[in-house]
Amino acid sequence: MDIAFDRDHIWHPYTSTLNPLTCYPVSRAEGMHLYLEDGTALLDGMSSWWAAIHGYNHPALNQAVTDQLGKMSHVMFGGITHDPAINLCKKLVAMTPAPLEKVFLCDSGSISVEVALKMALQYWHAKGQPKSTFLTLRHGYHGDSFAAMSVTDPDNSMHKLYKGFLPEHIFADSPECGFYDEWNEADISDFKHKLETNLDKIAAVILEPIVQGAGGMRIYHPIYLKRVRELCDEHSVLLICDEIATGFGRTGKLFACEHAGISPDIMCLGKALTGGYMTMAATIATKHVADTVCSGEAGCFMHGPTFMGNPLASAVANASLQLLIDTPWQDKVLGIEKHLSDMLPELNDLDCVKDVRWLGAIGVVETHQSVNVETIQKHFVKAGVWIRPFGRLVYIMPPYDMNNVQLKQLVDAIKNALMAQM
Ligand SMILES: *Cc1c(COP(=O)(O)O)cnc(C)c1O
Repeated sequence: MDIAFDRDHIWHPYTSTLNPLTCYPVSRAEGMHLYLEDGTALLDGMSSWWAAIHGYNHPALNQAVTDQLGKMSHVMFGGITHDPAINLCKKLVAMTPAPLEKVFLCDSGSISVEVALKMALQYWHAKGQPKSTFLTLRHGYHGDSFAAMSVTDPDNSMHKLYKGFLPEHIFADSPECGFYDEWNEADISDFKHKLETNLDKIAAVILEPIVQGAGGMRIYHPIYLKRVRELCDEHSVLLICDEIATGFGRTGKLFACEHAGISPDIMCLGKALTGGYMTMAATIATKHVADTVCSGEAGCFMHGPTFMGNPLASAVANASLQLLIDTPWQDKVLGIEKHLSDMLPELNDLDCVKDVRWLGAIGVVETHQSVNVETIQKHFVKAGVWIRPFGRLVYIMPPYDMNNVQLKQLVDAIKNALMAQM
């Protein structure tokens, strides 16, 4: 592989052209493994950022893409419809919590957040009470496009770089009570205060339910989310749940909001939607939200990407959801959770470790100091695993088929790498 060309000319996520870090050449992937060019197998702890929940090169998903390829790869979605999109949306309406039923297919997670925020703005505009501020949580992550970034943690996403261009929204303290902690009612007080003192301008609350992902891998108490829903209901504020990372079983429920027994007015989905095959996302709204949006001055929802409802992506998403439904995904995810809960606590004994936490098929080790990604990555590759930490967070979210022996290999690799490095 022409690694030199890559280093000289290709940007990778969050990288510098002045100081390009090592990139490992992967030539194929199969099941639970990525294969380097030299044949080295790396056990995958990342599911390619939450997406590849069924593992790689899956026969059923390959078949779905191949079958669709022979019919049509893409047609415009304006004025045209097709079975792959219809079948996918039928599944999404059936799987998501009850009042969600109007599906908007789009390109990526960030765009599904843009779409959700635009829906909320058009909703209030249509009601003749324009509001354009969003209330969200510190340590959140909602994507890299501008509106998504504006509701992402101000420090993590470097708001000061874009000051003057980014709209300013309201950030409540992020929840302190962990998922398994005893609930403390004081945890919701900052959120409640910020909501109640800004009611005249808040269009919607947007948050990641139960697990805050890229903004800190924080796993919080379901009652926090329950209180958020109650407060939104009490004050007629829309609730947007960003389930892009948590959706499709990752936390042990099909959608993380089910842990709190709530459903949002608008839900964002992405990442695992296509089983990690292609980029595609969806924003799903209640009939009330959708119909209100469309009763406004514009007479429609003002968004329509070129590749909306792409048939190849729809077909593979459809196959991925069918595979999920047809397999005992919950047993697998809860099995992973059980094994993580057996193995992770002993990592607390390491001096460099501040906290360990887990939920469903997510395991997190938080260190006191930032890890050196370049050196720890080298250690992981030597140990035959693929784990990509950031900052003070070393975390795994493996494909659901990972067995206990493999999980132990991941956790042992983390332990050994931390002992060697810190
Ligand atoms: C990854 C992620 C996004 C952004 O999705 P992209 O497909 O990278 O644009 C938004 N919200 C959450 C919670 C995510 O984890």
